[in-house]
Amino acid sequence: MKKEREVRVRIAPSPTGDPHVGTAYITLFNYVFAKKMGGKFILRLEDTDQARAKPASDKMIMESLKWLGLEWDEGPDRGGPYAPYRQSERIDLHQKHAKMLVASGKAYYCFCSTERLEEVRAKQSGQFTGYDRHCRDLKSEEVSKRLSGGEGAVIRLKMPIEGVVGFDDLLRGRIEIPAERLDDTVLLKRDGFPTYHLANVVDDYLMKISHVIRAEEWISSAPKHVTLYDAFGWEKPVFCHMPLLRNPDANKTKISKRKSPVSLNYFRRKGILPQALVNFLGLMGWSFGGDQDIFSVEQMIEKFDLSQIHLGGPVFDVGKLTWLNHQYLQKLNKTEYIAHLRNEVFSEEALGAIYPLLRERVECFEQFVDKSNFFFTGSLDYTNLDLIPKGRTADDIKMMLSGLLERLDELYTWNSKDIHEVMDKHMAEIAFKAKDYFMPLRLAVSGRKDSPPLAESMEVIGREMVRHRLREVLKHKILNAAV
Ligand code: GLU
Repeated sequence: MKKEREVRVRIAPSPTGDPHVGTAYITLFNYVFAKKMGGKFILRLEDTDQARAKPASDKMIMESLKWLGLEWDEGPDRGGPYAPYRQSERIDLHQKHAKMLVASGKAYYCFCSTERLEEVRAKQSGQFTGYDRHCRDLKSEEVSKRLSGGEGAVIRLKMPIEGVVGFDDLLRGRIEIPAERLDDTVLLKRDGFPTYHLANVVDDYLMKISHVIRAEEWISSAPKHVTLYDAFGWEKPVFCHMPLLRNPDANKTKISKRKSPVSLNYFRRKGILPQALVNFLGLMGWSFGGDQDIFSVEQMIEKFDLSQIHLGGPVFDVGKLTWLNHQYLQKLNKTEYIAHLRNEVFSEEALGAIYPLLRERVECFEQFVDKSNFFFTGSLDYTNLDLIPKGRTADDIKMMLSGLLERLDELYTWNSKDIHEVMDKHMAEIAFKAKDYFMPLRLAVSGRKDSPPLAESMEVIGREMVRHRLREVLKHKILNAAV
């Protein structure tokens, strides 16, 4: 009889930005499944794409998952039998495995230059737009000669040329893609770094991952992954692609940071309790049964069955999350409630950051609450604010605020100096006078004319809340009234 495989699941986030609510959603289902099956839950950071890696992102991902109480059994910070768990520390393994495939004839060196690839692409029409397999059948003597002559090359996987590539998805059944739509994927780049496909499969195999539970958006990568497993002659994991979280709008579009907050930092800053957020995520694609909306992770584990996930796009409705949070808040007793305020809202850290900004501005402590309110609140009321300076139009201000929002989206070193630099540069680029730039911005961010220095205040309010306020003010009727 075939021995049952030990259940080992993983999440493999790439530290490319703020910790995303989608990551928490996938984490929760992996975590619950591992606990249900008496297996292990692993965190692996997929940080090999150096160009997209953002400073501090890996730390934020780990912190926010810990905040949610979804702790891993093995991971970069706690080690484990298959360490290292940071992909960038495993590159020698990826290189070794790519070369193994070349040796067995399942992959090949490709010397084509970017210019040639662009030419090929430009000439292509119809469905297939991919590499034309120019180097697939080069003679091995030629390859050795060119490599020893120092010519740069990537390693590509030989994908099947005919037929279909298929795999079984636990929730979706058999998925098949015609081979003619699949490219000979790059496994190892010219600089020796692995691509996502190679690193992901090699690491999953070496870490003995039994089930790959990840978001729907990776379905298109799965044919490449199963081809890789076959090329190595490895047993495949079970694949389970979870439905993507959707906006509550009519088209049920995929949630994205452009439209609404998706950062776990935002929800924490907004004052959502971790147990409420976890409960809410548990309702995405799964139901507890009966009419029961409120349940703990432990209760979820008890009832959980991975095959019961429903695929109709789960709607990430912040209104429902807020409702759930309210239910949880009401259940806190006095001690818990006060502890939350002390630890999360009026924490030593938060008050310490505000102190230098308000020290000179507050004459008696009775003024403190009023003068500091915008550090603590979420949305502001813009109704009576003079957001459009004389000589400027609503469109000018919208252009200015949305331009800044885009730049702040990319600013991951959130400190007043860098914020200042971004604003000054932007102001010069759009040729705004300081007065026309900073006053509407100050009002958008703090809701008041007399706030402490702007960049310093923005640092304290936090990246997520500043971006949220800019998004909100951009939607406000003051800036959108028909003229
Ligand atoms: N690094 C991928 C991500 O950012 C992992 C996808 C997978 O789970 O295979 O989500």
